[in-house]
Amino acid sequence: MDAIEVGVLGATGVVGQQFVSRLARHPWFRCTWLAASERSEGKAYKSVAPWKLSTSIPGSAADRVVQACVPGKGPKVVFSGLDASVAGDIEQAFAAAGHIVVSNARNFRMDPLVPLLIPEVNADHLTLLGEQRQAKGWPGAIVTNPNCSTVVLAMALAPLRQFDVRACIVSTMQAVSGAGYPGVPSLDILGNVVPFISGEEEKMQAETLKILGTDGGRTPYAAAVSAHCNRVPVLDGHTMTISVAFEQKPSLAEIADALRNFSGRPQELWLPSAPQPPLVVTEEPNRPQPRLDADLGGGMAVTIGRLRDCPVMDAKFVALGHNTVRGAAGAAILNAELMHSEGLLG
Ligand code: NAP
Repeated sequence: MDAIEVGVLGATGVVGQQFVSRLARHPWFRCTWLAASERSEGKAYKSVAPWKLSTSIPGSAADRVVQACVPGKGPKVVFSGLDASVAGDIEQAFAAAGHIVVSNARNFRMDPLVPLLIPEVNADHLTLLGEQRQAKGWPGAIVTNPNCSTVVLAMALAPLRQFDVRACIVSTMQAVSGAGYPGVPSLDILGNVVPFISGEEEKMQAETLKILGTDGGRTPYAAAVSAHCNRVPVLDGHTMTISVAFEQKPSLAEIADALRNFSGRPQELWLPSAPQPPLVVTEEPNRPQPRLDADLGGGMAVTIGRLRDCPVMDAKFVALGHNTVRGAAGAAILNAELMHSEGLLG
């Protein structure tokens, strides 16, 4: 198979660097175009991307000249790691010019005609693309992945839909890399916990119900979700404690089986970024932990542990996912892999 050329909008940011790194070793996609703001335009990528990954900057990207985010110049398929303050206008302009935008930004996630996709959970939401094209008049398209904490919660709840989730309370402990670079000042976060992340609780609550919903997410899942979001001094990996109440209360063994046996289209199709399995259920009493478990499945698996009875709701457990991989660049790349397999990138 000939490699599919792709580009990255916002290539210099924290998420953009994950895109560049993962695409450099991707078996299907070849990254030939990098774009960012006027600050970076015309300069070598290595001189404007403050490289923060432990792997070195890919040779294919280091000397590439960064372009302006102007539609029509780059490849048809572009990933977006743009700052949300500019992503709306830029992504729309790219879709209107015929590009397929696989976005990680929040701007279009709750648009009823834009799939908010987790390939294991709601691959069928891609059927929105036909209507999107007609209603918006775009020759291209926009597909989004969820917020970095939402994806962990939605993947943990998806296998439990068979027991009719009635309510869920989630408290997060979110890594600093989720705030981009330079992000949260060290004097605010070192030795501290910040119990506020602007807009995050509302995003978790609304996005989760769209993802688990039907009719492309236009009929939201009928459960109540309440989120508490906290920033903690962890580098990578969002951990969350989750309590769930059901209409049909299952036993803990039934919940564990549902989580362990969960699988979806990416696993069936053996997509290159698909973790096998997508949910790792651990028995150890003090796991998952971000330093030990965030990289499982190449950063694409969600780890679940400490499943036990809840005296207030029905059951409770801990879930963890890598925020810049499963919560951002890895998620968008998996979306594009599914779209390619479904013939939607041509
Ligand atoms: P970041 O490190 O601040 O990077 C932002 C990127 O946007 C940079 O490449 C920047 O380019 C570019 N940009 C800013 N203003 C621009 C403009 N006027 N025109 C063109 N490009 C512009 O942010 P991040 O953490 O990578 O996040 C990127 C997006 O992903 C955001 O929408 C964020 O909400 C979302 N997200 C992040 C995470 C995470 O874990 N970090 C997870 C899920 C979703 P310059 O370097 O040239 O300024």
